[in-house]
Amino acid sequence: MRILLATKNRGKIRELNSLFAGTGVEFVGLDIVESPPEVVEDGKTYQENALKKAMTFYRLTGLPTLAEDSGLEVDALGGAPGVYSARYAGEDATDEDNNRKLLQALKDVEFEKRTARFVSVLCLVMDGKPHFFEGEVRGRILMEPEGSSGFGYDPVFCPEGYEHSFAVLGQEIKNSISHRARAIEKLKGFLERMLQ
Ligand code: IMP
Repeated sequence: MRILLATKNRGKIRELNSLFAGTGVEFVGLDIVESPPEVVEDGKTYQENALKKAMTFYRLTGLPTLAEDSGLEVDALGGAPGVYSARYAGEDATDEDNNRKLLQALKDVEFEKRTARFVSVLCLVMDGKPHFFEGEVRGRILMEPEGSSGFGYDPVFCPEGYEHSFAVLGQEIKNSISHRARAIEKLKGFLERMLQ
């Protein structure tokens, strides 16, 4: 079974294919679509954004299509930055800009109260119907960034049960507990049941 992944990120495609090795599922990226349109992520929820991306490319190709939307929710900030995580510090913000703004917003919040979670929502559109899979990982926002692996808010997010950020813990630990890994596990269960 071939699934179109609504991303141009080759790293994500490779990662998914390695997670699904031997299952009979193969992910292909948007480079199989001629002049793929830009999808504006203007939804108010992860679900809306993931659905919009997946449905756009399903309609263009007729292939089962998977899209992801994700974000970081900080309790002391009422769930911000949430769906705006990628552009928290502005439209062209870098990861460093976003982390700096986040640490500034939390500068008077003590460590115990810096609880947060990463959320990942996957939407798979098959035969015109959407199926959603969600994952989360809880943790705390550190006082200072640390480490260099990963991306986004990884240097400031310390998952529950650990004493360092995802950027210090590295890809292997992150992949075993992350919001994305948990959402992907649910997708995998669904696809395995379908293929049986
Ligand atoms: P989107 O899903 O591409 O809209 O962007 C989600 C944004 O949330 C990313 O740009 C990051 O800022 C943040 N984010 C989502 N997942 C992660 C993660 O695993 N590590 C660090 N930051 C993340």
